[in-house]
Amino acid sequence: MRVGIVGGGITGLSLTHFLARAGVESVTYEASAQPGGVISSDDVAGKVVERGPQRMRLSPSVRDVVTDLGLEAELLEVPEDLPLYVYCDGRLRRVPFSVSEFLATDLLSWRGKLRLFAEPLTDAGRPEETVADLFTRKFGREAYENLVGPLFGGIYGSDPAQMPVEYSLSALLRVESEQGSLLTTALQRLRGDSERPPAVSFADGMQRFPRALYESHADRVHLETPVTAIRPDGDGYLLETDSGVDRVDEVVVTVPASVAADLLTEVDESAAALADLRYNPLAMVYVESDFDGEGMGYQVRHDEPFDTLGVSWNASMFDRDGVFTCFLGGMNDPDLVREDPEKLGDVATREFEEILGAPAEVVDVQRLEDGFPAHDHSWQALDRVDLPDDVHLMTNYTARMGVPSRVRQAKETADRFAAE
Ligand SMILES: Cc1cc2nc3c(=O)[nH]c(=O)nc-3n(C[C@H](O)[C@H](O)[C@H](O)COP(=O)(O)OP(=O)(O)OC[C@H]3O[C@@H](n4cnc5c(N)ncnc54)[C@H](O)[C@@H]3O)c2cc1C
Repeated sequence: MRVGIVGGGITGLSLTHFLARAGVESVTYEASAQPGGVISSDDVAGKVVERGPQRMRLSPSVRDVVTDLGLEAELLEVPEDLPLYVYCDGRLRRVPFSVSEFLATDLLSWRGKLRLFAEPLTDAGRPEETVADLFTRKFGREAYENLVGPLFGGIYGSDPAQMPVEYSLSALLRVESEQGSLLTTALQRLRGDSERPPAVSFADGMQRFPRALYESHADRVHLETPVTAIRPDGDGYLLETDSGVDRVDEVVVTVPASVAADLLTEVDESAAALADLRYNPLAMVYVESDFDGEGMGYQVRHDEPFDTLGVSWNASMFDRDGVFTCFLGGMNDPDLVREDPEKLGDVATREFEEILGAPAEVVDVQRLEDGFPAHDHSWQALDRVDLPDDVHLMTNYTARMGVPSRVRQAKETADRFAAE
């Protein structure tokens, strides 16, 4: 079996790694000169600027790869007790991660806390309801607005009221049907029964991870070689690039949905529907400040009078020279992202100072027209896509988007190919 992988982001590169480890032949084509896709770290005026993920959880699959690559000594670990905040009703309030923090948190009133305990009496989650409806129905409006809405919506730059459960939370429905209650699982987490892997990065930034993967498999990965077409060929496929045609038996496509739509229409016309999947536009403003509070950062509650979605405190997490990443835009404010960088910088620094009480200066501004996959109603387009069994869509629009999920899916897929 020879596997063709289109895209050298973290999904394509970790799949390359697991296939190599299992002794399965593969070839990976990446359009850009840099490995890693959206995981990209820059040095701007001596500061580490993360263009994509700011950190990742050291899940068992990620740890597995980190160990294989010998990167353990380079890991920077976020201290376990570093707080995460939600800004609501005029100030930052700590998100509870333990029973004592839950009892002490001022994110929820006593009434709001007690309401959580009615969850076992509620009906099971339904795939077609929205994330907002699910959490409001199960845990009450206050818990949704002050806790779940800002945290969950912040991950996707999205409005949970626009996100059907089946596209973004199907794993949670599985947990509910196994455990009988979401509250039980939440309480187990708060009690510390299930271990949460630490959040990590590397001294030079997150891109160290995909770069190390590339360096270890450079013989299987072609950078600066975009795939221009995928064509059926007997019981296999031809991957066309400017440097030639490569025949493979299985194809794994990890590129953004609109690119996959173009590449796969010759395999099956139904792939054109992929172009309908929406991504949320995003602006990231990197600022420098003397603010010395300790924490991972904060998300802003939806109805607060701010354009900032959230701020990642890389200064505190990784001791990085006063650098903070401010996220703006998302589904609720797509036009803001199209404003010029100066205006975005002004908004981010003004709101940073208003919330944290410390001045900040802009280091850099980045705009992503297609930032986070929206996992909203446009995901119904996936139901119209019908590809052959040996063509696999595998990235953040077909499953969860976090780096740990990407690596885990790559491992499961490689294991399946190896077994075949
Ligand atoms: C701003 C941002 C912040 C995030 N923050 C976090 C976080 O804090 N923690 C976390 O765990 N996750 C985070 N994520 C999610 C996570 O980083 C991504 O879901 C994941 O990295 C996607 O990896 P991928 O390989 O599936 O896709 P991509 O990274 O999109 O890789 C696809 C690759 O395909 C290549 N390509 C495109 N066209 C072609 C072609 N024709 N031929 C060949 N190659 C092609 C692209 O150049 C790219 O390298 C974040 C994502 C974003 C965008």
